[in-house]
Amino acid sequence: MAPRISLASSEFRSGARARASVALSFFLLNCSPVHGQLAAEASVTSPTSLRAQSTQSALTQRWPRAANPRLSWLVLDITNGQIIAHQGSDPDVPIPVGSLTKPFLALAYARTHNAFPHVICRGTQDRCWLPRGHGSLGVEDALAHSCNAYFLKLASQTDPNALQSVLKLLGLPSPPAEATPAELIGLDPTWEIAPATLARAYASLLSQPDAASILAGLREAASKGSASALYSEDALAKTGTAPCHHRTCVASADGLVIAITPIEDPRTLLLLRQQGSTGAATATLAAQMLHVLGVPRER
Ligand SMILES: [Zn+2]
Repeated sequence: MAPRISLASSEFRSGARARASVALSFFLLNCSPVHGQLAAEASVTSPTSLRAQSTQSALTQRWPRAANPRLSWLVLDITNGQIIAHQGSDPDVPIPVGSLTKPFLALAYARTHNAFPHVICRGTQDRCWLPRGHGSLGVEDALAHSCNAYFLKLASQTDPNALQSVLKLLGLPSPPAEATPAELIGLDPTWEIAPATLARAYASLLSQPDAASILAGLREAASKGSASALYSEDALAKTGTAPCHHRTCVASADGLVIAITPIEDPRTLLLLRQQGSTGAATATLAAQMLHVLGVPRER
């Protein structure tokens, strides 16, 4: 039997929701209508707080730009919606983000259905990245393991108006008109989102009242799913792999990972992109970065 979509998260209490609401408010305050859409304006400034300075300094000392030309990252302070550190490509320039769109699809689906489905993934023949397939899985396992078969099915059953409404709520740009399920889940890299916008959308996701199953899936991803290299029981994570879109591709794909910690009262969001890698492999680097930022590993 398919699990009910619960209306309130047991994982996230009011403190986390309040902080995420602050992040959302900050985002909305910093947006203005451009060509009929909400677009971030000068979303990345140069924060001068001690936390911002120490974060930027710690990460750039360990991973200097010159020695890591394929690496881009940003750190969002979830408590105030500020990008407190970043390196590499411009966080305000849209890029393909692969599977990092899947949680937003799940939220849109939840807004017009009473329950998430169970789907059988048969692997390659269902366009999943895991050749042998994931078998039968629900939304939490599908998010944890980033199952393409599950989300292709979910995308095909998601009301476009519900999706638009969720995207607007989270400050995200629209996908191309009449986007296919493959475009919606990042298999075809036509839907581009700026890293700073994506980070703030994840922060806003934390405060959504019907996101409990989605957040549980992201928690499972960090503990034993596609981002298990984080070795963390106290993080939410999502990996993505996007076809390379650079003029000077060094490999066929970019690996992405987003990590949010701690779970109970989220403060830090790290978004990492590595050319010539996969999301799962990039999670290993994300783990090292979180460690440098003082987030303990638990295994
Ligand atoms: Zn699968």
